[in-house]
Amino acid sequence: MNPFDKIPSAYKFTLKQLSIKTGKPEHHLLIMALDDLNEKFRHSLLNTKPSITHQSTKVTHHLSSDYCLSQLEIIPKDGQLGILLRSDQGIFITKHTYKNLVEALTALGESASVREKWIWTAITGNYPVVIAQKKPSHTPHLWLGQNTACKMFNSQSNNPRQYSLTTTLPMQKMCKICISNYNHLKNCHLDIKVVNGIIVGPLYDNALF
Ligand SMILES: [Zn+2]
Repeated sequence: MNPFDKIPSAYKFTLKQLSIKTGKPEHHLLIMALDDLNEKFRHSLLNTKPSITHQSTKVTHHLSSDYCLSQLEIIPKDGQLGILLRSDQGIFITKHTYKNLVEALTALGESASVREKWIWTAITGNYPVVIAQKKPSHTPHLWLGQNTACKMFNSQSNNPRQYSLTTTLPMQKMCKICISNYNHLKNCHLDIKVVNGIIVGPLYDNALF
């Protein structure tokens, strides 16, 4: 049976017009349309039931892009930066890493369709304190995933490119605004301990990253 025989004449006409316009054969255009439909169908399946692939101890998750930007956090990973997602299904981390804060912040700003391609790995453990610092000798700031607690990057004069993230607790006093803002935060995932302006904990053996 030739599937073309079953196509209503209005679609046949559209196919012919599209074929003339694009220079592509009619059957090719039909396959492209079906591909598109297939993709949409696959996404709708993923949105309701994420597919889970077990890879030894790691779980790779193809999450839908149905999460908000506020659930994403930039975190230090393998000497670079990764993206962490807190979801109802657990905590996940991207496979891909970014060289610096500008690249990572740009990635967060990508469209949902770009984010949909990210591959997530489930992780467990306690959330360590993340410090943003220009240089090891400079004032340490408390990192809250997308900005410091003192919202340093709201000011154009602070270039995120110059800052790095670390989970190593600094020896010098923390930024006072960061600590003051932290004390006013509600439902913060961190439970930091500060003594005389110096952050001393928490310290975890099973840190998330
Ligand atoms: Zn600060």
